[in-house]
Amino acid sequence: MSESQEPIAIEALLKEKRVFHPPKELVEQSNIKQWMDAHGIKDYEELREKAKNIEWFWSEVAKEVVEWYEPYQKVLEWNEPFSKWFVGAKYNIVHDSLDKHVKTYRKNKVAYIFEGEPGDVRKLTYYDLYVEVNKLANALKQIGVKKGDRVGIYLPMIPELPIAALACAKIGAVHSVVFSGFSAGGLAQRLEDSEAKVLITCDGFFRRGEVVPLKEQADEAISKCPNVKTVIVYKRVGREVPWNTERDRWWHELTAGQPAVCETEKLDSEDLLYILYTSGTTGKPKGVMTAHGGYAVGTAITLKWVFDIKDTDIYWCTADIGWVTGHSYIVYAPLILGATSIMYEGAPDWPEPDRWWQIVEKYGVTILYTAPTAIRMHMRFGEKWANKHDLSTLRLLGSVGETINPEAWMWYYIHIGKQKCPIMDTWWQTETGSFVISPVPLTPLKPGTPTKPLPGFSAGVFDDSGKLLQGVGGDLYLLSPWPSMLRGLYKDLDRYKRTYWSKIPHQYLTGDKARVDEDGYIWVQGRADDILKVAGHRIGNYEIESALVSHPKVSEAVVIGKPHQIKGESIVAFVVLREGVTPSEELRAELREHVANQMGKIARPDELWFVKDVPKTRSGKIMRRVVRAKVLGEPLGDLSTLRNPEAVDEIAYAV
Ligand code: ATP
Ligand code: MG
Repeated sequence: MSESQEPIAIEALLKEKRVFHPPKELVEQSNIKQWMDAHGIKDYEELREKAKNIEWFWSEVAKEVVEWYEPYQKVLEWNEPFSKWFVGAKYNIVHDSLDKHVKTYRKNKVAYIFEGEPGDVRKLTYYDLYVEVNKLANALKQIGVKKGDRVGIYLPMIPELPIAALACAKIGAVHSVVFSGFSAGGLAQRLEDSEAKVLITCDGFFRRGEVVPLKEQADEAISKCPNVKTVIVYKRVGREVPWNTERDRWWHELTAGQPAVCETEKLDSEDLLYILYTSGTTGKPKGVMTAHGGYAVGTAITLKWVFDIKDTDIYWCTADIGWVTGHSYIVYAPLILGATSIMYEGAPDWPEPDRWWQIVEKYGVTILYTAPTAIRMHMRFGEKWANKHDLSTLRLLGSVGETINPEAWMWYYIHIGKQKCPIMDTWWQTETGSFVISPVPLTPLKPGTPTKPLPGFSAGVFDDSGKLLQGVGGDLYLLSPWPSMLRGLYKDLDRYKRTYWSKIPHQYLTGDKARVDEDGYIWVQGRADDILKVAGHRIGNYEIESALVSHPKVSEAVVIGKPHQIKGESIVAFVVLREGVTPSEELRAELREHVANQMGKIARPDELWFVKDVPKTRSGKIMRRVVRAKVLGEPLGDLSTLRNPEAVDEIAYAV
């Protein structure tokens, strides 16, 4: 197929409104099918139905994935809005992540294949990881870290990040990882809030061929955080760094003489595992608290079923461990399942746009889990880069972070998965800890929807008066507690109640808008505060963006509403074009018309501007609130979560 024909093929496929079925062989051999067979459950809907008895379901699946030191007395204690799971069990997630494996054949299995941006490779077996974690855990104890203490971790994508997290968990300390792409201000804010007494960081890391001086940023942040007494510095690049002899310790010196064994603290199932701040897409980040036992069960079973992890897989989740996706699905769940994961340090397009595809080919990656923003970026570069490599080992693909627009879904399905890999579009949040709404490898797929709640979860769409909606948009709620759910917001239980539990009684408000279709599939329309009101109609910003991106010349789009005397709001769109496309008046008109054709005249953008980039959070989500503020000349608010401030200037320049 020539390049010019492909978008047409995608468009045609989308028009058919086809449902995509997973390959038969995959279905038959899937972990979930085998579990159902063993439990005498014939089909997936029957399982979902049975799993409405959540205590039965979660206790049954817990047996699959975790080993308690001492059994629990009660599966769930629900004191709304506070839940306790596997109450009374003695437990530590590190036991399942490492200790249990080193007694089996997995001792010598590779846990992480690390590839640095310059091309350096390290392979760590479960035993290697176990020893490294034990040494660091002993070192932490030596410098006075105790159970319940908070430890900040500010590291790039190198194996020392999971090692540091596991070392904290091992001794019962609470880790708070801050994404290494944050500058000093963002780090300071989070370190202060979590009251960390130790920070683990490194001298720097490689990004687009340059060294990012992480230690200097950490120093600047700590100058505002007197609570941080010790800084442990891992040598990643081997450069000179400023040093405070009172406070700073080299990782290699501190761990050098430590014993390779460290007893894992036998905690309570409900003891805190970590505090993690949300992406801050809608405002001030929230410090989400997570507990050992329920989190282990929830993340491990969902990964085992959704991505069908087997011992033979090479699994690659491209997220950063600084976000929940990395916590749950690079660190804890894959380790609990004894998986082999890829960790890549650098930029996806460095030195060339095919770096990812090179990695897939080199290691024979079988499962690739990434975000719509990355898929759209690769679409912009064009499929020629993927076509240079053998991607035939892939068997499952995944997406998370935003609604994946059908166009990107199809591109991913055709050009990366070669029409044989189902796409697991997983809807979940930092707050949920694990996937909530997602297909499994048995589910017929429709591009653009995460399908239905997984077994053990229930969700519904309601209007403001609490009426259940079908076929029309409303607020997405979760209707029963689940094991990996947040235990509250750190130091702010009021905000916890207010944010999630106050709109309709007894239901968890997700903050997202959604619509349930005739098959019970949930279409996530975007965030509750990203809805336009145009001439009495409510239109999701995302839907217009998606319509724009469905045009073959468009790579990304952001849409906002501007107050309008007659219509309520007028629609303003900013569009990033695909590589090689030049902006013109004709194209502007064509794109406005394209939206009108797809969605009706009501959705036609009143203004449409061409820009080189759109503002995104550091986790890769489009940040509409900043675009809106910029257009309206309002204060921009907290920008620490913004990755590309120059894109805001682009917006200003355009308008
Ligand atoms: P904040 O809550 O601070 O504004 P955030 O919501 O961006 O930040 P995360 O917890 O990282 O922080 O993201 C969860 C949100 O991401 C979901 O509420 C939803 O809006 C979006 N999301 C995640 N996965 C999907 C998906 N598969 N489809 C649609 N939206 C998704
Ligand atoms: Mg959120």
